[in-house]
Amino acid sequence: MSYRIAIAGAGIGGLAAAALLAREGHDITLFERFSAPRPLGSGLVIQPVGLAVLDLIGAGEDARRLSSPIARMLGHEVRGRKALDVSYPASAPGRGIHRATLFGLLWDRVAALGVPAVTSAEIAAAPPDGTGRRLSLVDGRDFGPFDLIVDASGAGSRLSPLRARPLGYGAIWGTVPWPGTEFPRNELRQRYRAASRMAGVLPIGCLPGDSSPLAAVFWSMPLAELNRWPQTPVTDWHTAVAGFWPQIAPFLETIRDNAQMTQARYSHGTLRRPWTPGLVHIGDAAHRASPQLGQGANMALLDALALARALRQPLEDALPDYAAMRRWHVRIYQTMSAVFTPMYQSGNYGLPWLRDMILAPLSTLPLLRPGLTHLVAGTMIAPLSGTRDP
Ligand SMILES: Cc1cc2nc3c(=O)[nH]c(=O)nc-3n(C[C@H](O)[C@H](O)[C@H](O)COP(=O)(O)OP(=O)(O)OC[C@H]3O[C@@H](n4cnc5c(N)ncnc54)[C@H](O)[C@@H]3O)c2cc1C
Repeated sequence: MSYRIAIAGAGIGGLAAAALLAREGHDITLFERFSAPRPLGSGLVIQPVGLAVLDLIGAGEDARRLSSPIARMLGHEVRGRKALDVSYPASAPGRGIHRATLFGLLWDRVAALGVPAVTSAEIAAAPPDGTGRRLSLVDGRDFGPFDLIVDASGAGSRLSPLRARPLGYGAIWGTVPWPGTEFPRNELRQRYRAASRMAGVLPIGCLPGDSSPLAAVFWSMPLAELNRWPQTPVTDWHTAVAGFWPQIAPFLETIRDNAQMTQARYSHGTLRRPWTPGLVHIGDAAHRASPQLGQGANMALLDALALARALRQPLEDALPDYAAMRRWHVRIYQTMSAVFTPMYQSGNYGLPWLRDMILAPLSTLPLLRPGLTHLVAGTMIAPLSGTRDP
């Protein structure tokens, strides 16, 4: 079965869908608003489930080579109490990777498969057209008809009916050279003050063609403070960070300008039905959450895989089947994210206390440790219902 498919958005989900669907023999065209597709932001963690999808796309080996293995996620409250300690099995670590590296690997696979990309293409709508759908661009251009439009246009999608709830905290993220320090290069390290402040350092491997090791640094704050960030003197920020977590000062030495840090705002919401006839939503266009559990990119990769598998059958069966394959994994992770985010990023004082005094000690019990590992690895339940892989 082969369909004429338009993919809206060349981000992580859109590129993965393009590669997987092209390999299944569908006729794919990618549409992206930027003139030259580019990733925004710093680094992220690819969980073992996401890496399994990259393996299927043929980008897994390069992703391993260019990323940092993450053996452990360790966080302390500012007074020294342990607040987070999750280890991965040695055979399946998380992978800290620069967004540009991940993007480049996926883009190269899509180009190698000969998928055409229409750039400078800001999508406005996807109106129905007889048996399929058309894609209308903001500049008046119009493409189609397509059998199916895959909405992979992320958190700001114009095609998705999802109205997500904005979260009260965001963060600034930046990429810096890994300095000479005793920080381990295979751990995500975080520090918190209750839940109102969080700083973190994530090793993110290197860029293709440059073996210099990199780190992503992040600093969370309430939205009002985030809105003032562009006017905040960077030296004041350095002083605040040094007071909060002196050991990460070497990571900040190259940050001299506010523009080196990307502002990230988060929201939370899930589409109950991620499709209508001729239009299907994947990734952040279908479900959004804070990055606390480090699952968003993995979810987009898994959505792309589920869709590629579902589209082996007639369209009227394929879209409900895609939704069914992903339903429980998405729901569980969205619920977990809603439960855990206020413990790490909120103005709440009771929840972080619970986190430090009860959850953190409980998480060290041998019986509970594997459960936490499954939670962060993305394998709490089968990622694709009815299947045992990826
Ligand atoms: C600070 C931060 C840290 C994160 N850390 C992690 C992590 O550690 N692990 C993890 O798994 N996830 C993480 N995430 C989440 C992850 O980045 C997202 O969930 C993931 O990128 C979603 O992929 P996507 O393809 O749905 O959307 P995106 O990657 O956002 O791609 C959307 C694409 O669509 C294009 N587009 C948008 N609108 C239009 C339009 N109208 N017309 C044409 N093109 C359009 C955009 O330009 C973009 O290229 C993090 C997110 C943030 C903000």
